[in-house]
Amino acid sequence: MKIWRTIKSFFLLELLRGLRQTGSHLFEHKITVQYPEEKTPQSPRFRGLHALRRYPNGEERCIACKLCEAVCPAIAITIESEPREDGSRRTTRYDIDLSKCIYCGFCEEACPVDSIVLSRVFEYHAEEHDELLITKEKLLEIGERLEDELAADRAVEAKYR
Ligand code: SF4
Ligand code: SF4
Repeated sequence: MKIWRTIKSFFLLELLRGLRQTGSHLFEHKITVQYPEEKTPQSPRFRGLHALRRYPNGEERCIACKLCEAVCPAIAITIESEPREDGSRRTTRYDIDLSKCIYCGFCEEACPVDSIVLSRVFEYHAEEHDELLITKEKLLEIGERLEDELAADRAVEAKYR
């Protein structure tokens, strides 16, 4: 065995095997995605940035039941609420700490009115922790901006529930 190892070392057989492996892939079809110009397909169930949705008449969907807050394993959601004059309950505060969130989607699953959802947006970043504290106003603004896509994705997802 020692002789065989010496022969392999002397004739650089390991190196040649490596080069053969590299060469075998040299002219194959390349699958490298040139991000960000190119993007891979996304599932309608992709779990990205959160959004709060409204009904078509503009009313907030959220009924402040706090199920999402209770189910969140990362304790990332903070809700405060109070009844309105018409007796319905609405949130006065709905914050998500994205630095805690693990994007499990439990909040979305728990919501009885399809209010809190996870969008397809994943291209965001922050340099300060405060920038990852996302408020109700911001969540509603994201929901308004992405409503068409969110509604279409929920319609597809409903088939699998
Ligand atoms: S995705 Fe999961 S961790 Fe993030 S806020 Fe929702 S329940 Fe919490
Ligand atoms: S987002 Fe949904 S689960 Fe969370 S408090 Fe509002 S209605 Fe309840």
